[in-house]
Amino acid sequence: MIKLSDPYDENNIFAKILRGELPSLKLYEDEQTLAFMDIMPQVDGHVLVIPKTPATHLLTLPDEAAGPLLITTRKVADAVRKAMGAEGVMIAQLSGSDAGQTVPHIHMHILPRQSGIDLAFHARDIANMDELALIADKIKAEL
Ligand code: AMP
Repeated sequence: MIKLSDPYDENNIFAKILRGELPSLKLYEDEQTLAFMDIMPQVDGHVLVIPKTPATHLLTLPDEAAGPLLITTRKVADAVRKAMGAEGVMIAQLSGSDAGQTVPHIHMHILPRQSGIDLAFHARDIANMDELALIADKIKAEL
């Protein structure tokens, strides 16, 4: 259960990815942000962007981390839509369990959208890692 008033949990999955304690398929990294593949994608090309600043959700993200997060999200979203041949891109951010948040480190979802292709369930089915790596390579080629 993630409440908006929760303090930051240093042991959440994305904090561990940032510390290199858990693996991820990284697409882009700079001093303030990291983008990597979502392992339970709702659509091919589902990417997550996180700030390196510890914050549980958007409402507690410090102002100075908000700009870099949005800039990286926009940059990576453009690469995702080109790589996936998508005409639309959906950016989502869930703050709090009641909004559907499952990992308590703020992240932006990038979901390429195409007419006629519906989204799969949120955070349910783990992707085939070989297929995910191929998609990651296509996105990285556009960055
Ligand atoms: P949210 O429900 O908005 O907190 O989204 C969390 C997202 O993280 C979901 O889309 C999950 O599929 C994804 N996710 C969970 N664990 C990992 C992981 N180890 N690596 C990459 N994505 C993950």
